[in-house]
Amino acid sequence: MSTLRFQALKKTLNRKPVEVKEPARRSEIFGKNVFNEPAMRQYLTKDSYNSVMDAIENGSKIDRNLADHISTGMKEWAISKGATHYTHWFQPLTGSTAEKHDAFFEPTGNGSAIEKFGGGSLVQQEPDASSFPNGGIRNTFEARGYTAWDPTSPAFILGTTLCIPTVFVSYTGEALDYKVPLLRSLQALDNAATEVAKYFDKKVTKVNATLGWEQEYFLVDAALAASRPDLVLAERTLLGHAPAKGQQLDDHYFGSIPTRVINYMRDLETECMLLGIPVKTRHNEVAPNQFELAPIFEEVNLAVDHNLLLMDVMDKVAERHHLKVLFHEKPFAGVNGSGKHNNWSLATNTGVNLLSPGSTPMKNLQFLTFFVNTIKAVYDNEELIRSSIASASNDHRLGANEAPPAIISVFIGSQLTKVLDELEKVTDGKLSPQEKTDLKLNVVGKIPEILLDNTDRNRTSPFAFTGNKFELRAVGSTANCSNPMTVLNAAVAKQLQDFKVEVDKLVKDKKMKKDDAIFNVLRDYIKKSKKIRFEGDGYGEAWEKEAKKRGLSNNKKTPEALKVKIADKTIKLFEDLGVMNRVEMEARHEIEVEEYAMHIQIEGRVLGDIARNHVIPTAIRYQNILIKNVQGLKEIYGNDFKKHAGEQLSIIEEISSHIEKINKGITEMIDARREANKIEGAEEKAFAYCDKVRPYFDEIRYHCDKLEILVDDELWPITKYRELLFTY
Ligand code: ADP
Ligand code: MG
Repeated sequence: MSTLRFQALKKTLNRKPVEVKEPARRSEIFGKNVFNEPAMRQYLTKDSYNSVMDAIENGSKIDRNLADHISTGMKEWAISKGATHYTHWFQPLTGSTAEKHDAFFEPTGNGSAIEKFGGGSLVQQEPDASSFPNGGIRNTFEARGYTAWDPTSPAFILGTTLCIPTVFVSYTGEALDYKVPLLRSLQALDNAATEVAKYFDKKVTKVNATLGWEQEYFLVDAALAASRPDLVLAERTLLGHAPAKGQQLDDHYFGSIPTRVINYMRDLETECMLLGIPVKTRHNEVAPNQFELAPIFEEVNLAVDHNLLLMDVMDKVAERHHLKVLFHEKPFAGVNGSGKHNNWSLATNTGVNLLSPGSTPMKNLQFLTFFVNTIKAVYDNEELIRSSIASASNDHRLGANEAPPAIISVFIGSQLTKVLDELEKVTDGKLSPQEKTDLKLNVVGKIPEILLDNTDRNRTSPFAFTGNKFELRAVGSTANCSNPMTVLNAAVAKQLQDFKVEVDKLVKDKKMKKDDAIFNVLRDYIKKSKKIRFEGDGYGEAWEKEAKKRGLSNNKKTPEALKVKIADKTIKLFEDLGVMNRVEMEARHEIEVEEYAMHIQIEGRVLGDIARNHVIPTAIRYQNILIKNVQGLKEIYGNDFKKHAGEQLSIIEEISSHIEKINKGITEMIDARREANKIEGAEEKAFAYCDKVRPYFDEIRYHCDKLEILVDDELWPITKYRELLFTY
């Protein structure tokens, strides 16, 4: 094994940066591999083009005859770009994307062949999908689900395959993927937000939620990554002593990017351009070898697809550069983990960002309406939002001291806090003309200039307002953003529905003017949702205590956090909005707790293997060297040997003591796994893995890490942190 470590190091040290070709202007290649509007205009008839556009803009159904024309046009375009195959690209509940390639090629029966891609193949496919997680929705004997084209996300070419974004549903109509609930939540949000936006502008007919994700990741040389069984199988290091230097000097953050890495980024970004992923920003992150990539925001469904596609492309391009991307939330103990900030806002078809303060009091009342409703929605659903970002890997981040806590709170900055404080004082009932003028001039009217110099930022907040959008920072770097976005969309949709009902009621029953009614309802919401607002240090212990007093949830572990997903309140929320029904919610919960248990199981096995089969034998080998040394000293010095062998003897004993503790820990952990495996219920099993198995990890690791700094470096078989984090 130690030879593997040294071979990997040698390989790494001999690497040369891989040369990349980049176009002079990115705009020239942007979207070249996407069946976007210009491509459709070129390859589709006018009717076909219009029907796709209508489907995108208004969700209308595409006629079967036209589908044949569209598929033919798509195929011709794809072949002109070198594609030989097509696939329905979908998002099963495994968390990554799935694809099964079929060739366009089809024999005609007389010895020749043609390239064919019919409308049927475009619109619907039946993947042999019996082994995707379904949480009991599909009986395996019927094992049937189908994928259906999602025209709102354009087809693209990856390698030589035409990829068609699709939804994945069971024949009985239940969602088997992440995209279906997301699309339904976006529809619900569009309906609710459009109604409310009409209070301010009758011309609004559609509201899109927008998402700009920021993807953090680590890069490690491929050979070094491959030399560690834990990185290969668990995507994180399960042991490894902290290097002498970590991130304490803050010298990596925004530092100059190493050549191998910058070449990787340039190559990756070129691929992104071709695929129409509008990446814009790249930089070093806080931890050594940690980086970030962010695009310009897009409509949520498209942004989610682009993020998933990006993660796939990142892996592929990394291979060319002999690098391995680590998406895991906490691949290394002791240095920062990775997240995926979700910047979220609402945009109207008239081009207005509803979370952006405007230039007139009326526009700002609109801003405040959406702003306050979002805060209220987060307050009412804080525990559900927490559950939407729960995973075994994100548990390492949430609540750890460098990441947002497992408590959801909203940060808005001192200036907006002042505005809300003023609004809280609004008179109950009709407002006097004087009060209204005052409000409009001095409170609402002041917002834009205030925000311009509002530079206070709070990096410790899980949900922060950042000028013209909210930023959900607690999302894990491996996550499919659909999950938190579906919850946030649904929560805000429900909130806006309630808001509309309340305002209309005041207008009708109390004969209030519309803006009086809006002020009244907002005032109540500000009061009611105050507990979710927190401007202080979210990482501190004081906040944990304070949050508890406020009654906010603090579910630190995934099985605990997931419980609320099947609470009656949640099921009602999703059912009322038509986002998911009880069967779908329960299935998802089942899948997630199962996945959690499997995750911990795999980690436990890998840790047991490394500790028992790599660490202990190495320690014994070194101990034998010491024993030989002591024996030799005894031979030379006779009874006097202890004077010279004292330290060796104490290391020999120390090694024995660590070995004992490691071995005992592993034996007990295996017993705990055995017990957990006997449990039938998926949730109960997840709790057993969480509370009974996982706690052994730290103990075992501790002693392995101690051995790492005792044992001769030449013998140590496991690539060390300093090598993983500081070698390019
Ligand atoms: P930072 O938040 O670090 O200051 P930016 O303001 O540039 O950085 O934005 C970070 C991310 O937020 C980017 O991906 C950007 O596209 C996205 N973003 C900006 N405006 C919006 C918006 N209206 N809706 C959604 N995302 C947005
Ligand atoms: Mg940001």
